[in-house]
Parts: sequence; structure tokens; C-alpha cells
Amino acid sequence: REAEERYIQANPKSAAIHGASKAAMPGGNTRTTLHYSPFPVCIRFAEGSRVIDVDGHSYVDFINEYTAGVLGHSEPAVKAALAQAIADGLTLGGPSIYEHELSAIISQRFSSMERLRFCNSGTEANLLALATARAVTGRPAVLVFDGAYHGSLLYFSHGASPLNMPIPFVTAPYNDAEAAVKAIERHAQDLAAVLVEPLQGGAGAIPGELAFMRALRDATRKHGIVFIMDEVMTSRLSPSGVQGRLGIKPDMTTLGKYVGGGMTIGAFGGRADIMERFDPAKPGALPHGGTFNNNVLAMAAGHAAFTKVLTPQAIDRMNAQGDDLRQRLDALAKTRGLAVQTTGLGSIFAIHFHRGTIRNGHDLDEGERGREREINDLKTLFQLDMMAQGHYINRRILGNLSLQTSAADLASFLGAFEEFL
Ligand code: PLP
Repeated sequence: REAEERYIQANPKSAAIHGASKAAMPGGNTRTTLHYSPFPVCIRFAEGSRVIDVDGHSYVDFINEYTAGVLGHSEPAVKAALAQAIADGLTLGGPSIYEHELSAIISQRFSSMERLRFCNSGTEANLLALATARAVTGRPAVLVFDGAYHGSLLYFSHGASPLNMPIPFVTAPYNDAEAAVKAIERHAQDLAAVLVEPLQGGAGAIPGELAFMRALRDATRKHGIVFIMDEVMTSRLSPSGVQGRLGIKPDMTTLGKYVGGGMTIGAFGGRADIMERFDPAKPGALPHGGTFNNNVLAMAAGHAAFTKVLTPQAIDRMNAQGDDLRQRLDALAKTRGLAVQTTGLGSIFAIHFHRGTIRNGHDLDEGERGREREINDLKTLFQLDMMAQGHYINRRILGNLSLQTSAADLASFLGAFEEFL
């Protein structure tokens, strides 16, 4: 309560804006994932590795637009590309050189995406991938994993969200190859697709194990089921995503977040024989419109990001920094014998307040059983404490780095973490 009281005192403008916003938006903002009690700070602007709120606090950004902000803020190459796209007319209403350039580079980087199409968000990319799989296989059902987040219409934390699309879903535990293969075998006749995050982000930054991912690949191939990797969040974890790291080629891949250079975007693609069904010149082509699918801002910003900033070396360096950060955080907790640990991969991390191996959401629930209130309090304290010391992090303690996160930023985070411990 004291920490919250200090937070309220320190953020009068954010409090006022949040209070007034409740008149038009339930809960006072438009993204559930950015809400926390008593109210989230209202961000006024951002630059480099920092965000600055309306009360004038400057924070090192560890939310980074939930991983979409790989570039950090105000990347000059993206600003220049956006300025050019605006000067070129902003809305073109026709196929453009911009979409040609971005599709070509995405297809080069993610070799499973032999053909691809754009849309406007990761959610949309997943819905379109599932619809495609259902259309090409003629089967209705989809296998997903407990704890999965594929967008707010495809959310499977502690059961299915009431907002989920009316698709017959089969669920299986994450990182349990045997159970997953059994479920695939049992439902093979009905399954159009298996949809998986190669690292469960929303569930707590839990990496998919190689043996698990391989088992999914093999079982889906055997039964003609479309294997879809949702790399909306994870494509930043290597120049060719987690599929590149693991050496596993899915039938389809979905992308979003940073691939538009910070602008609104989604993309879905995969095997040529599947995606060619969208060719409008072919009989029985699948229809796929979408006014803003090729909006020039996202196409131009994405292309500038990939070609001018997101070199394979830059991506690798950012992910190595993240690996180093997690190791250091774990070491600080370990030397004190505390029940605190990290999960994650490369530049994505989460911090958890219990001991024991974490291979899926079930392990998290078990580790926290009977301590839910204490852990809630710890997460609240941790977030408010880190923010008071100048680090922007969410209540779930799911963080990530950007290309602009500096050594000094990381040292500052580690120092604050040590003090918190
Ligand atoms: N899939 C995954 C794995 C995600 O992490 C997210 C967003 O966090 C989505 C899909 C949804 O993407 P969007 O928020 O762009 O709709």
C-alpha cells in the first residue's frame, strides 16, 4: 500500500488522464496488457531506449511495445522512410514497390515463407493462417497449447477465453511431446492445423524445447496437418526467427510486431502450394482483401528496418545481451538463495518468484500454488520499485530489450534488481 501511495503521489497527471479516460474507455485505456493498478503511467514521448511520461519521469524501456519495438525509439532510418512514403502520397490504393520490397526480404529471411501476404496485426495473421489451413485441408479443428496467446481472439490461459473465435479447438500441455503427439493422433481426422508459439510469451516467456517442436513437426507431417509457428513475438530471436535457431521448417508462419518497423502490421505465409491458393488468377482462389494490408507506412518502415537497421549481426548482438542479462539476474538471486528465477530466450525475459523447473504454465501454477497473494504482492512491489528507479516494466514482469538498450541501461536494471532482492 505504501508503494502504491508513493506511486500515486508521483504521478498526478497520469492519474488525472486515466481517471478522465474512463468516461470513454472501460478501465481507462485500450489495451488490457498495458493496464495495472492503480493506473498505468501515460507516456508522453519516447527517444532512444527511453520513454518519458506526462509527469516528466524518464524510464529505460523494458516493455518496448511488447517486443514490437526492436528498433528502440525514433530510429532515423525508419523516420526517413516514413517521410518519403508520406511525400509519395501516403495512401496509394494499388500494389506498390513498397510491398514488393518488404515481402521479398521477409521471404528471404524466413525461408518457410515461400509466399506470404500482409495484414494488419498478429491476431489477424493467426486468424488468416487458421482459416487458410481449414480451407486447404477441409478439416475443422485446430490444436493449440495451454497458456497460448495468439491474440485476444485466440487466447488459452486457464481455459479458452470467451472472446475466442468459434473454431473447434483441442488443447494439449506445452512442452509435453508425448501428450501432444497423442492428441494429434487421436484427432488427426479432424485437425486442420497445429498452432504453436516457439516460445510462449504471454504465459511467461517459456521456450519450446527442441524435442517438443520436432515431435510436432513430425506428427503433423505424418497426418497432413498444417504446422503453423506463431512467430509474432519470437521472430526477433534470431535473424530467421526461432524456426531458424531450431532448424525446423513449419508449413506456415505468422509474423507481426517489429516487421513493420514499428507501424501496424501482420503477415502470414508458408509453403508455396498452400499460399498459391490466394492467387486471384487461379480458379477457386481464396479471397483476401483488407484495405490497409499494404499500407505504405508499414511497408516502407518495415523495409527500412530490415535493410538498414536489423542486420543479422545487430539481431544476434541484441539477443546475446539478453542471454547475458538473464544469466546475471539468475546469479544475483542464486547467491542470495532466493526463490527468484528468470525464463526466456535471447532478448525476451520474464522473472518469476519461485523455485522449480518451469517448462509450461502448469509448472508456474504449481510453483505459485498457495502463494498467489504473496506473489501478486511481490510482482506489484517489483514493478513499482523498478519504475521508481527509472525502469519501465509491466506488472507481469515480461520484458525485452531493443537494439538501443545500452550497457548502461542494463547495468542500471541489474543494480535496481539487486537492491530489490
Ligand atoms: N501471437 C503472439 C505470440 C503474440 O505475442 C501476440 C501479441 O502479443 C499476438 C499473436 C497478437 O499480435 P497483435 O497484438 O499484433 O494482434
